[in-house]
Amino acid sequence: MTLHRAWVGLGSNLDDPRRHIERALEELDRLPLTRRLMASRLHVSRPVGPQDQPDFINAVALLETRLSPLALLDQLQALEQAHRRVRARRWGPRTLDLDLLLFDDSVLALPRLRVPHPELTHRTFVVLPLLELAPDLVLPDGRPLAPLASRLPSDDPTPVLPGA
Ligand code: ATP
Ligand code: MG
Ligand code: MG
Repeated sequence: MTLHRAWVGLGSNLDDPRRHIERALEELDRLPLTRRLMASRLHVSRPVGPQDQPDFINAVALLETRLSPLALLDQLQALEQAHRRVRARRWGPRTLDLDLLLFDDSVLALPRLRVPHPELTHRTFVVLPLLELAPDLVLPDGRPLAPLASRLPSDDPTPVLPGA
């Protein structure tokens, strides 16, 4: 079984978001056939979509895993369930969102799984923590990530949590 590198985006804006993210970072390190190699600091962002909800705490983690992309997605969704995520409305508030951002240099367009995550390059709260961990990251299509960051809005008054 090959070793893969998977980037995961974490987000929470309900019920003590910082605790959900910190716990999820530990849980990612305990997934089967998987360990966590790196974790970004915690970033604060405004919600995507409906604005009548709290700010988000976001982070990005790099995993080393022998799971397949779909098996890893199953594990991420099980963790979301363990955090009692309830899907009420699209882009609504949630205790934990775990998105698979990148999986090696794979490009996947499955019904349940699109990789790279389709919104990756458009979201400041994904791009900044990714660049924090991997300033030289190159996307599967050959584009380096860093130049894309300059086109993103930096709309956060306090983008990184102190002490995180
Ligand atoms: P967004 O994907 O825009 O960030 P979201 O994270 O709120 O929105 P979810 O409700 O978490 O969306 O997931 C909806 C569906 O997206 C899931 O059922 C999952 O199968 C699918 N999905 C497709 N690609 C991915 C991916 N790369 N990572 C996680 N889920 C994905
Ligand atoms: Mg998401
Ligand atoms: Mg999601």
